[in-house]
Amino acid sequence: MIDIEPLIQIAKEARKNAYTPYSNYKVGCALLAKSGKIYSGCNVENDGIMSICAERVAFTKAISEGEREFEAILVVGGKEKLIYTTPCGYCRQFMSEFCKRNFPVFMCYEEDKIEQKTLEELLPNNFNL
Ligand code: ZN
Repeated sequence: MIDIEPLIQIAKEARKNAYTPYSNYKVGCALLAKSGKIYSGCNVENDGIMSICAERVAFTKAISEGEREFEAILVVGGKEKLIYTTPCGYCRQFMSEFCKRNFPVFMCYEEDKIEQKTLEELLPNNFNL
């Protein structure tokens, strides 16, 4: 059983650091590695080149620290209050490099709503070598 309470708090905290002068859509996430360490991420927009999403920030932080196996990710997002926010297509494919098909993706929104999907549900028939 994954204790998602700490993931919710860390994702919400990370969301406060989102750099979103263009969309004002702030996303935060918390990635639980198999080591037990939790990596946070927020989206970082850019006027000139492609912005980077919270999920890929968290994954690249973890991977650069030597992590290779992951237990779960939790995502929160919205302009003002939290609305239902799922990883974008780019992030789904990115995650599939490191995560199994049954990797749990939690979406936390409104006051206390939580939805869980597997990576397979979010990215059926994904491309993997
Ligand atoms: Zn994304």
